[in-house]
Amino acid sequence: MKIENNKVVQIKYVLTDAEGNQLDASGDEPLAYLHGNHNLIPGLEAELTGKETGDKFTTTIPAEEAYGEKQDHLIQTGVPKEMFQGVEEFEIGMRFEAQSEQGFHSVMITEISEETVTVDGNHEMAGMDLTFSIEVVDVREATEEEISHGHAHGVGGHHHD
Ligand code: ZN
Repeated sequence: MKIENNKVVQIKYVLTDAEGNQLDASGDEPLAYLHGNHNLIPGLEAELTGKETGDKFTTTIPAEEAYGEKQDHLIQTGVPKEMFQGVEEFEIGMRFEAQSEQGFHSVMITEISEETVTVDGNHEMAGMDLTFSIEVVDVREATEEEISHGHAHGVGGHHHD
């Protein structure tokens, strides 16, 4: 069965950056997703369209088709340390949940000075070209429920309580 919209696809993947460092991998348990529902980054979903069970391929997705370029307006300098209640020690790479007009999002500390810190709200993989080695493990029809939820259920998919 070919991969097209509203198929549930199971893939195994290894994700590396431009230097070949591994960033993420499915391991032995495949990831299941509902194709055509923005469950994956756009460039990867486009590469998977038309593939079949058993297909293996490696593809490099440019940043603009992955998590986008880094956006300067998401980087905030001079944030007073006292804004972070209960935090005594700051370290570069620490992540916090921040609230903005767009809702909650994750920010990372990227610079620390005496009284203030710089926080970066870009996705941690923004601005990066991403290389995926993919194996298509299974392709099946989605159920009505999966289509209405916009994600895959069952093995490797979304679990509800
Ligand atoms: Zn669901």
